[in-house]
This record gives sequence, C-alpha cells and structure tokens, in this order.
Amino acid sequence: MYNGPKCLGLTPDSGNDEIIKTAFDFVFGIGYMSFASTAADGKTPTCRGLEVHRLDDCGNMYIGASHGKHFYDEMEKNPRICGVAIDTVAVRISARVRKVCDGKIRARYWELNRGTEKMYRKDLSNFQVYVLERGDGEVFHVYEDDAIARVRFSFGGDAARPWTYTVNSNCTGCGVCAANCMMNVIGIEEGRAVMDHYGCNECGICYESCSCKAVDKNEFVCC
Ligand code: SF4
Ligand code: SF4
Repeated sequence: MYNGPKCLGLTPDSGNDEIIKTAFDFVFGIGYMSFASTAADGKTPTCRGLEVHRLDDCGNMYIGASHGKHFYDEMEKNPRICGVAIDTVAVRISARVRKVCDGKIRARYWELNRGTEKMYRKDLSNFQVYVLERGDGEVFHVYEDDAIARVRFSFGGDAARPWTYTVNSNCTGCGVCAANCMMNVIGIEEGRAVMDHYGCNECGICYESCSCKAVDKNEFVCC
C-alpha cells in the first residue's frame, strides 16, 4: 500500500477515471479557472478567468463566452485552451473545446448563472457555451514537507502527457543521477535507473548530470 504524500487523496495507483473525477471535482469546487489560449494572430498568448460548470450527467466541464469576445474569435481559429486552478493543490487541464448548441445544456447554464442570463437577456444567442471535449491534465501538490505528488490523466480519447524525463537503454546504472536527484526518486534496479514520476519535480538535474545521454527529455506533442 502506498504511504507517501497524497494529492487530493490520489496515489501512483490511482486510475485515470478516479483522477479525472477528483481533478474536475476540485475545479468545480473552486468554480473557475484561469484559461490561456492563443490570440487570433496565432502567436500571442492570452489569458482570462472563466467560470466552469458541470452541465450534464457525464461530468464534462463547460465554459462560456459571448460572440464579441476575443476568446470567441480565438476558439474559431484554434479551439485549444489550457487552464489552471490553484488552491494549495494545482490542477492543470489542456483541452480542445467544442461549441454546444444543445438547448438543455444551455438552459442548465442559465439556471446556474442567473446574473449572466440577465446580462445577455436582450440576445441570449449571443452567448456561446463550450464543452471541454478532449484533452489531458495534471494534479500537482508541492507544498507539504517539500514532497511532490503528481498524477496525470486524459479524457475524451486523448493520451495523458508523457513524463518529461525518462531513462533510455543507454543507462549503465552508474547511479550519478540518483545521487544528484533533488527529490531522491531515482533508484537503481537490475543495473538501470528507475524514476518514480509521482514524486519527480521535473527539475532536469538527472538529464543534465548523465554523461551517457541515458535520460531523455520528452517533448509534448499536441494532437
Ligand atoms: S541514467 Fe545516466 S546517470 Fe543515471 S544511472 Fe543511468 S547512466 Fe548513470
Ligand atoms: S527531473 Fe529532477 S526530480 Fe525528477 S528524477 Fe530527475 S533529478 Fe529527480
């Protein structure tokens, strides 16, 4: 049984469904996220806070914005966002969004946002609801006892983001990375370095200290 630090009760053994539910419940509890997108020029990062809602029985996350917002234009051009909610624990979600026209979902949105409904009363159709259709995310906790607790998840058919640092077949088991690891999460097993990614700070010291090029730095490729 895992006895190390926990992140919202999650452990390295937690399954994807459990992590998604825990992560989304945490964000719903806060009620909003800071969401980044790419400006219509295709280069400039932009960011804003948006309310998040659960509007169906499947646990999906929904957001909304009016047609006049730059956010709307950005989603027309590149419907990808990245959000973070922080309250001791941090939850990051990267997702592709889809416009929602379903009347029931929109009615539920207004039910939960009477103030917004009042604001848009002259033209409710001006307001666009989106669902975070697919993507990946992470739950991360760093504050307690200098220990890291990190789990990743995916939803809607996407894959979870790969760990940034992994050991490849060049490893000789010399132990230099283990001695230098700031979090003491590298062990040598059967002549090869093994990382515990749940506790890894992704500092890259192992990558920099390995003279055998046996630690890969993996890039995240967006799909
Ligand atoms: S990853 Fe590099 S530094 Fe670490 S044990 Fe293997 S060869 Fe040594
Ligand atoms: S990235 Fe840093 S914390 Fe993670 S295994 Fe390497 S040295 Fe340790």
